[in-house]
Amino acid sequence: MNQVTPAFRYEPFVMALLPSTTGAIDIVGDVHGCMEELMALLEQAGYQIDPFDPRSADPIGLSHPEGRKLVFVGDLTDRGPASDQVLRLAMGARRSETAFAVMGNHDWKLLRCLAGNPVKMANGLARTLEQMEPLGADFARAVLDFYDTVPHQLRLPLPGEHCWDGAEALWVVHASAHAHRQGQADKRSFERSIYGYPTEALDPSGAVVRKDWAQDYEGADPVVHGHTPLKVPRQHNRVICVDTGCVFGNAMTLYQVDHNRFLQEPARANHSGKDRTLG
Ligand code: MN
Repeated sequence: MNQVTPAFRYEPFVMALLPSTTGAIDIVGDVHGCMEELMALLEQAGYQIDPFDPRSADPIGLSHPEGRKLVFVGDLTDRGPASDQVLRLAMGARRSETAFAVMGNHDWKLLRCLAGNPVKMANGLARTLEQMEPLGADFARAVLDFYDTVPHQLRLPLPGEHCWDGAEALWVVHASAHAHRQGQADKRSFERSIYGYPTEALDPSGAVVRKDWAQDYEGADPVVHGHTPLKVPRQHNRVICVDTGCVFGNAMTLYQVDHNRFLQEPARANHSGKDRTLG
């Protein structure tokens, strides 16, 4: 495995503001290495992906003719067939400021692993490392450097006209962001951002049941998140879930903030090897 450095140097407790936006933002749910569906979904939304060689470690360029910006809700990797290519695209798009990402629990584990910390090789991580291996140690280092700039929450100022009375900004987070956690950079807030509210219970497919925090969300600002795979995207109490379990064989979802609408791309297959129950 390509380990980069024994020193764990990542400072996770940061919150970022997206540089001024027009509201023309697309937010895409958990990708988990599903490069084919991601590319199709981005093309559906009008993005242009630069031609690339799948054996190269170079970043993959992404642009949009109307200047739209993309945000990933995190969990770029694990379980799927091409986590290495998804990383290349996220890194290339970040470089041109076409796309941004927030930290997911899978991203967090990958970066701890690359930094030389002991982690459990479960839930698809071994597969991601296998896919990254041929791209070499420099690529692993570049991935670590990329994640160094990925915050646990993103705050997007809303444009003048929007559908959420009294809201000033939209938050993007992997799992959860109650109002009192928004903009907070302490350890607990970081954990809520990337793990949400896990319970002791398991669902029929053996996955941890997470508390449905949207039910008691009372903030004025809308929150877009992933983490909990649903059959269909959901908007409830200004909480919008865009994880529709592509890697489990369902679909990948992209939310267009300015149009308040969802675009979807059906999964080509269940890439996870698991029969996961979707919420
Ligand atoms: Mn996920």
